[in-house]
Amino acid sequence: MKSIICGTCSRALDTFSDASGDRYVHPAHFTADHEPAPIEAPDGWRGHCDFCFSDKPVAVLPTNDFIVPHMPDHLSRGDWSACGMCAMLIEAGRWERLVKRAVRKSADIHGVPVDVAMLIVTTAMYEALRENIRGPLLPLAEEAGTDG
Ligand SMILES: [Zn+2]
Ligand SMILES: [Zn+2]
Repeated sequence: MKSIICGTCSRALDTFSDASGDRYVHPAHFTADHEPAPIEAPDGWRGHCDFCFSDKPVAVLPTNDFIVPHMPDHLSRGDWSACGMCAMLIEAGRWERLVKRAVRKSADIHGVPVDVAMLIVTTAMYEALRENIRGPLLPLAEEAGTDG
């Protein structure tokens, strides 16, 4: 199945299904300043690290869909991408570091100070994520023809 991404910010979108059908929403930890514009991901689309938002994911963490704690209208859909640093932290089991890294990066992106609520929400989200991991990190194949 193809990923559904936002045509405006090219981030992977989460899905929530209810009686009225599927709705696409930005990831729970990404505060967007625009409405999601769902499109099918083009071939070769890599997206962003789902943890710290860097644009160079190197691996995917096979993950079952799960409802994001504290955000019942968010369903995390599909695998999570990870950049090199986040993949290292996952393999080392340094989830606390990963939470801090993600929250700090998110605060930087939005130009706000790190706040305790974000730490709590992100910790709960990663705990739910860990319960839904299906297997070890899978490295993404090197993209052909990229500059070095
Ligand atoms: Zn967007
Ligand atoms: Zn990352």
